[in-house]
Amino acid sequence: MKLTTLLLTQNNCYKSGKKHTVKGIMVHSTGANNPKLSRYVGPDDGILGTNPYNNHWNQPTPGGRSICVHAFIGKDKNGEVRTYQTLPWDMVGWHSGSGSLGSSKNANNNGYIGFEICEDGLTDRAYFDKVYQEAVELCAHLCKLYGLKPEKPVLIAHCEGHQLGIASNHGDVMHWFPKHGKNMDTFRAAVKALLATGSTTPSPTVPAPTPTATTGEEKIWKFFKDKGLNDFAIAGLMGNLYAESGLRSNNLQNTYEKSLGMTDEQYTKAVDAGTYANFVNDSAGYGLAQWTYWSRKEALLKFTKEAKASIGDLDTQLVYLWKELQGYANTIKVLKSATSVRQASDVVLLEYERPADQSEAVKVKRAQYGQGYYDKYASKPVAPQPTPGQLYYVQTGAYSVKANADAQYQKVKAKGFDAIIKQSGNLYRVQVGAYSVKANAEAQAAKLRTAGFETYITTTGGTQVTAGAAPAPVLKSIDVIAKEVIAGKWGNGEARKQKLTAAGYNYATVQQRVNQLLK
Ligand SMILES: [Zn+2]
Repeated sequence: MKLTTLLLTQNNCYKSGKKHTVKGIMVHSTGANNPKLSRYVGPDDGILGTNPYNNHWNQPTPGGRSICVHAFIGKDKNGEVRTYQTLPWDMVGWHSGSGSLGSSKNANNNGYIGFEICEDGLTDRAYFDKVYQEAVELCAHLCKLYGLKPEKPVLIAHCEGHQLGIASNHGDVMHWFPKHGKNMDTFRAAVKALLATGSTTPSPTVPAPTPTATTGEEKIWKFFKDKGLNDFAIAGLMGNLYAESGLRSNNLQNTYEKSLGMTDEQYTKAVDAGTYANFVNDSAGYGLAQWTYWSRKEALLKFTKEAKASIGDLDTQLVYLWKELQGYANTIKVLKSATSVRQASDVVLLEYERPADQSEAVKVKRAQYGQGYYDKYASKPVAPQPTPGQLYYVQTGAYSVKANADAQYQKVKAKGFDAIIKQSGNLYRVQVGAYSVKANAEAQAAKLRTAGFETYITTTGGTQVTAGAAPAPVLKSIDVIAKEVIAGKWGNGEARKQKLTAAGYNYATVQQRVNQLLK
């Protein structure tokens, strides 16, 4: 498996930041003929290729939908099949379809890692074989990681999730796999077989854009915060420092570790002890910002010596960096008024760090690193905490007669709510959504009440049952209706037509009778 990480940090799902304990995997396929990863994953990292419509899922609500998955399998810009991880595995995804059983409203997403296989025209056997194998390897990797058994209902397809009552009514992936002689049972067996071989570890193709925590990370954030920079500026600055040094203040440029025959620690010690005298002129990048040019290295050395600190000391380098930055008037000006991570990141990249490669891909990557820090450290309003395992169902009616539940269901649906019917004991409950945060359930209940429904919140769910059709309306005779029309009770023109049709009458028949009566 070729696994790359590009977290969809702009997606509302990612931003909601809800964690879950992984208990299963749900396999999806996209349902659209577009095998390119760039359709869903972005921005371009140099591997994905560009998306001319910029309609990938790294935005709050892709296509207006509250939707997000943990990974995609599809083609990169060169047509090679890869896996992109797009959410942390332990974060709740929004992937079980639309409606009350899907998206952000669905508590059933909890615990399931969901990934999408990008569909093509469904007939290309070579493409299918590659994505099937990639999906098998991804699932084996995740099973190993979370101790999951590749069995039902732990490892399931979306359509099986629907059968189990935990996902919306979608056919994926069983509208595709059988075309090539596969199904979910062969899939689970393949995952099991791969697990048995013990070789499930993927080899990442590029370093994960989200920086891993270092001990200095929080200290660096706080340092710049104390200097009065805003969160965008700090994140943009830190993303660049991460790209340069991994935020390690004793980091010696890797190529020089080889040519000088010294590790980071040995080089730092030798400079401190004065046994290595070529620090200023060796052109080796060093420290947080990977200072390279002789005059900047000379100033850094002088500064740390005066401070009686090690050349690799983080605190001293931070003070030096801040002092040095004051000489970059425009950079400081932009940082102080930054309104996005990207803006701050770009100015640091182009004016302060000035690496050889200043391409769009490098700008994107550094801003992504910065975004990782922003998401981690920027001050955010504290969200209400859900009670673990507790769900609040918004209910508008419970009936012992199924037909009555069906009638209520249709009324609620007609007002635009995503209703479902759940059976528990001898009651059919008409419910609109399940929420782990009670305040969210209360908000939904208020909406229903505004729409004229008696509503309350219960912690009793049940098993979902199929809703019946709306009961047939009791129709009046054509003569009675025609007289009502003449009396003006049904309005005129198009409005009349719509009203009559909605009430179950044949407009043409009624109108014919009206014309006869008026002759
Ligand atoms: Zn699906």
